[in-house]
Amino acid sequence: MSSNIPDTDKKRIVIVGGGFAGLALIRTLRRSGMQVVLVDKHNYHMFKPLLYQVASSALNVGDIAFPFRKMFHGWNDFYFRMAYIERVDATAKRLYTTVGDIRYDYLVISTGCVPNFFGIENIKRTALAMSNITDALNIRNRVLRNFEIAVTASSDAERISRLNVVIVGGGASGVEIAGALSEMRRYVMPRDYPRLDMSHMSIYLIEGLGRLLSSMSEQTSAEALKTLDSKGVKVMLNRKVTDYVDGCAIFDDGESIPTQNLIWTSGIRCSAVPGLEQQTKERGGRIGVDAFNRVKEYDDVFAIGDIAAMHDDAEYPNGHPQLARVGISQGKRLGKNLLAGLKGRPMKPFRYCNYGVMATVGRNRAFVEWKKIRFGGFAAWVVWSTIHIMFLLGIQGKLKVFWGWVWNYFGHDQPIRLIIGSYERQKKEDGLA
Ligand SMILES: Cc1cc2nc3c(=O)[nH]c(=O)nc-3n(C[C@H](O)[C@H](O)[C@H](O)COP(=O)(O)OP(=O)(O)OC[C@H]3O[C@@H](n4cnc5c(N)ncnc54)[C@H](O)[C@@H]3O)c2cc1C
Repeated sequence: MSSNIPDTDKKRIVIVGGGFAGLALIRTLRRSGMQVVLVDKHNYHMFKPLLYQVASSALNVGDIAFPFRKMFHGWNDFYFRMAYIERVDATAKRLYTTVGDIRYDYLVISTGCVPNFFGIENIKRTALAMSNITDALNIRNRVLRNFEIAVTASSDAERISRLNVVIVGGGASGVEIAGALSEMRRYVMPRDYPRLDMSHMSIYLIEGLGRLLSSMSEQTSAEALKTLDSKGVKVMLNRKVTDYVDGCAIFDDGESIPTQNLIWTSGIRCSAVPGLEQQTKERGGRIGVDAFNRVKEYDDVFAIGDIAAMHDDAEYPNGHPQLARVGISQGKRLGKNLLAGLKGRPMKPFRYCNYGVMATVGRNRAFVEWKKIRFGGFAAWVVWSTIHIMFLLGIQGKLKVFWGWVWNYFGHDQPIRLIIGSYERQKKEDGLA
């Protein structure tokens, strides 16, 4: 197989991963005169902060996923190849992929993270992660499908197991999906399933630490807990789910909760990059980089975004937080540095400007923390919504999401309640095949 990229006298930069970091970099290179090659296992960029809204039937996939080829129409020196990275040979300056090998002058790794199941095989096999579009659709399908099965269940025990949702991980993703599902239970499902007793559905949010949203202040954690409590979410702190057996989430103390909807938002790790094993020894499989995002030992291999662990920033000695904003800033900085390098000018080290953290709980409440400013409630939700709309790609995408939120807000609706997926897979999940 050949990657079919013409060899020219232009310098070639190969970027693996078109997430927040990779995309920000590519955008700076449009007038660089370089040949730009993007390799990604998906043919679209996804806006991960809103995955939970696809999972909870509030937004369509097309509202948060954007095809790469459409983004770069008319750019003759841009090439996209849909492929997996297989190996890097940094000595020969070649990237081996599932569609053939690609020579590079510069290589940038921005492959992000995958869920960490901490080696628990049963959970890896059965739990629903929330790390990409397929995961979000799996959650939507599984939860809705279990409602349909609950309608015809022959016992209350089976109905409870089908309706219960156990979310493991009380970070922003866990809190957000718990809030969204609790509103679905309150406003949407009683209308769709008037004969189902909603008291059979419990939503549990399990956190191993002593508080939710541990990257935010204690006050915010306490308020998030109170908000979820008021929405009927059963929050369990200082508890660990260690296995999933016979349709039950099992805790370390032996307690169990019956559920066919185990959602796993607890922890991430970086995907391995074969060929760079020596450099990926940082915590969580991250790649160690210097202040210019250069992978240690190489001048022409870079890593940006979630996968990069930079220790040179005094404020973040253990690497920057794995957030979209960090990836975007690193992508932009690297782009400017590469352009500077081409012109023989010195590169500038990366410095992260902290834009704060946010999390939302339900359709009209959020928490915002930025330096010493902290606030929650509706005003925070307006800030959260505005910032997310600003960062979404394209006017059409922004308008669609804005309209979806208006509809959801006034209509108490999460309208994309569609079960779409492989029937064979569904039969397996339902124990019918
Ligand atoms: C559910 C969820 C909610 C989040 N919410 C927020 C939030 O509210 N605010 C915030 O700041 N951050 C949030 N984050 C974190 C944020 O999404 C990440 O920090 C950000 O996506 C990192 O950008 P990246 O470019 O490093 O990687 P990603 O955006 O993950 O992109 C990685 C890209 O690499 C591709 N790829 C991966 N492996 C391979 C391979 N082997 N071969 C080829 N291509 C590959 C993927 O298809 C993807 O396109 C959230 C993350 C998740 C999962």
